Amino acid sequence: MIKVEGLTKRYDRTVAVNNISFEVEKGQIVGFLGPNGAGKTTTMRILTCFLPPSEGTASVAGFDVLQSPMDVKRHIGYLPENPPVYPEMEVEEYLTFVGRLKGIPKADLALRVREASEKCAVAEVSKKLISKLSKGYRQRVGLAQAIIHNPDVLILDEPTAGLDPKQIHETRDLIRSLAGAHTIILSTHILPEVEQTCDHVVIISKGRMVAKDSVQNLTSRLRGQEAVAVEVTGGDNAAIQQRLEQVAGVSRVVARDTRDGRHSYEVESLPGCNVRGDVARAVVESGWNLHELRAVALSLEDVFLELTGAGQAAEGEKQ
Ligand code: ADP
Repeated sequence: MIKVEGLTKRYDRTVAVNNISFEVEKGQIVGFLGPNGAGKTTTMRILTCFLPPSEGTASVAGFDVLQSPMDVKRHIGYLPENPPVYPEMEVEEYLTFVGRLKGIPKADLALRVREASEKCAVAEVSKKLISKLSKGYRQRVGLAQAIIHNPDVLILDEPTAGLDPKQIHETRDLIRSLAGAHTIILSTHILPEVEQTCDHVVIISKGRMVAKDSVQNLTSRLRGQEAVAVEVTGGDNAAIQQRLEQVAGVSRVVARDTRDGRHSYEVESLPGCNVRGDVARAVVESGWNLHELRAVALSLEDVFLELTGAGQAAEGEKQ
């Protein structure tokens, strides 16, 4: 339904999107996850024909964004980060106005407005001024305008930004209820949003794609990975680190702290490897004392930070 190939967007000197490629199948709900400035909005604006790509191609429902923008727009509903609502209009009046702009035949307009209002739970405020609505309701009106022409694809930019926890919950439920009938891409910098709402995820960082998988695969793969906190005395810091790095299944050893002759490390292992026994043996057989050996689960958040490089920045700040 959506195909992006070698997509690149440059603004003067900034490369906002750097050679990304992914596909979204019909009915999928895909999270486009990345820290602020990663290139999410830029990609969405290319997919919705608001910006031309510098290189590469993107197509929606088989239509190329450069060659057939009108066809692409017919198949897309777009909710930008700030919903394009008019505060001085009533909800029903605004949705009717948008429906007309999107070319819905006059005879179908009232029905479409009613259906979109019901799906997005704004029917009860149809006669209210948009300026009088809470941010949560305004976001739902934004969603109603995105689905009013019954598009195949919904593109939602940070749909829960600025909402309170209850509104976030309601908006996520609403988005999930729209999947299936629509193919959805939603951008977010919030990891649990992807876990709770999406079935697939594309992770981007600094314009580059760093991971692409089903949410289930990604979480189980990452959850299978663990780190072990190890504290050792009676040896030299560098020698201990080197020995730990040699243990089979260990992917990385990070020296954490040395205090009163106690050296602590975080030992990360390859997915599916339980290295605790071998780590303990390596320490004892080297003649050192093992003070602590404790499993620390790597959360999806840790791995996301690591994949996107934000973890290194956080490390740097700690020191
Ligand atoms: P995200 O949506 O992931 O926060 P954006 O796509 O908005 O990221 O921005 C990606 C990068 O492109 C950022 O470095 C941003 O500063 C830059 N950028 C975005 N829009 C423009 C623009 N109109 N002119 C110049 N640079 C821009």
